[in-house]
Amino acid sequence: MKSPIQIPDLKLVIALFLLFLFACARVPDADLIFVNGKIVTVDQDFSVARAVAVSGDTIIAVGSDRMIRKYAGNETRIIDLEGKTVIPGIIESHLHPESAALSELDEVIPDVHTIRELLAWIKEQTMLKDKGVWIIHPKFFSTRLSEYRQPTLAELDSVAPYNPVFLNGSFGGMINSMAMTLSGITVKLIHPGIIKDNETGKPTGFIRSSAFSLLKLPPRKTLSDQDEQEALRKMLERYNRYGITSLFSANGSFASMRMYNDMSGKKMLTARIYQNILLNVEGKITKEKVIERLRTYDRITGSGDKWVRVGSLKIYLDGGILTGTAYLQEPWGEKAGEIFGIEDPEYRGVVNYSREELLAIVSAANEFNWSFTAHATGGGSVDLLLDVFSEVNQSKSINDRRFSIIHGNFFSEEAIKKMSELGVYANLQPAWFYKDADAMQYILGKERIKTFHPNRSMIDAGVMINGGSDHMVKWDADASINPYNPFLAIYSMVTRTTERGTVIEPSEAITREEALKAYTINNAFASFEESLKGSIEPGKLADMAVLTDDILTCPADRIRDIESVMTIVGGKIIYSTP
Ligand SMILES: [Zn+2]
Repeated sequence: MKSPIQIPDLKLVIALFLLFLFACARVPDADLIFVNGKIVTVDQDFSVARAVAVSGDTIIAVGSDRMIRKYAGNETRIIDLEGKTVIPGIIESHLHPESAALSELDEVIPDVHTIRELLAWIKEQTMLKDKGVWIIHPKFFSTRLSEYRQPTLAELDSVAPYNPVFLNGSFGGMINSMAMTLSGITVKLIHPGIIKDNETGKPTGFIRSSAFSLLKLPPRKTLSDQDEQEALRKMLERYNRYGITSLFSANGSFASMRMYNDMSGKKMLTARIYQNILLNVEGKITKEKVIERLRTYDRITGSGDKWVRVGSLKIYLDGGILTGTAYLQEPWGEKAGEIFGIEDPEYRGVVNYSREELLAIVSAANEFNWSFTAHATGGGSVDLLLDVFSEVNQSKSINDRRFSIIHGNFFSEEAIKKMSELGVYANLQPAWFYKDADAMQYILGKERIKTFHPNRSMIDAGVMINGGSDHMVKWDADASINPYNPFLAIYSMVTRTTERGTVIEPSEAITREEALKAYTINNAFASFEESLKGSIEPGKLADMAVLTDDILTCPADRIRDIESVMTIVGGKIIYSTP
């Protein structure tokens, strides 16, 4: 009888086994390898490596040059970083790319810093345009002028007697006499949004957003879907230049989602999108109405793929700090009265929902498993929101839903404590600190400014902070409104320095590492994608940026000048300097 295993068979088995071991030991070939760099991984230990290997759209290894070079095959592209710093791709927590993309298609929006520059621009426009044609500044904030004031009606009329002028500041604005004439705004018209002079009873030219609809503005130019997508593609390219590889589209709808999905299908996206959905319920808000609306949505937070995902459900709770319409903890005060034409000494700002309505919205959102967020720009609305969050939390925990407060700006000690307890994130705009902390200090005083962007206090209390710009219009990264250069933002968070060079409340400065986290891993957490991106680790998406300077060690003043020399999204180099 033959034995079941004969000697030649045994040799074959051993040979196959050795071959199998060899195959296991051999690392897979990478498509792309970066060596000789400073890889700031932003992992749990904030470790720094020398090299990284990428296969397809994924990071497969991070380590020493020697170790990573083992992943090189015949087809592998090897890039020598020559000592340059690499960070995880920047994730931006607050952008308006859809409006920004179109904002300078026809005309450049001026970057004015004084009343004189503003009036000179308006005058120039009157010479370029026919009489009666509107001159519009789409995002104008008087508190960003060195004078901290609106131009007067007389000043506007002196440079534009025959053209209607509208300086749109989102929550308030300024118009001239021609704009009033063309829009039928007369002394007799009584409207809460039309501000009138106490003595003469005549409109001052300052209007609140509730009166914007009275203006007979020219119809908005409509673009074909193709042109709109092309403009958006170019806007994303501008963002890529600053290392941005993912972004939160701050307010939109399922229609914007469809557009991004369409672009994704056409391989037009060079940044990943987390699309917030603006809740749209008309009239008096009740929970039934909100539920009815949420039932019509077939997706919730997180639905989608690694390119386009549904973000948080969003509402606008109050106005803005630059127009005196943010809802504060205390009355705005005397200085604000002069600047914004506020007469009521008890005026604290504008709030769009009653507590009852807010409770209806937030509890419905929580029941439907949405992550919820609200634009809240003053300490009063932060408190109101947290009060409602606390109540909702009683019936169903919000702790793992990653609710957030957009802007916030002013956070009291109690608010910070509550945010930490409830797991509520702070979606902050450091560029606002850079642009507006001086004006806020001037208007609200040295005491109240202490609670403005208290980043150190928040991190120490365990509150997650998310960095974003609220970029709305203009294309230049530093001159845009608001500046979307993340390195300018990081500079400001680290140095507490403003555009005017003032250092405000330096005890609230955070470290470079913490600021970088606010623009990477923290934002990955905010979108429930921390296992997918936000750090340079094996298994994560290969989204990275190679920088012009070492963000961890360069002189602090140089952080703001950093740009990306190479931006990689999903293993593809989508931007590089020549
Ligand atoms: Zn915004």
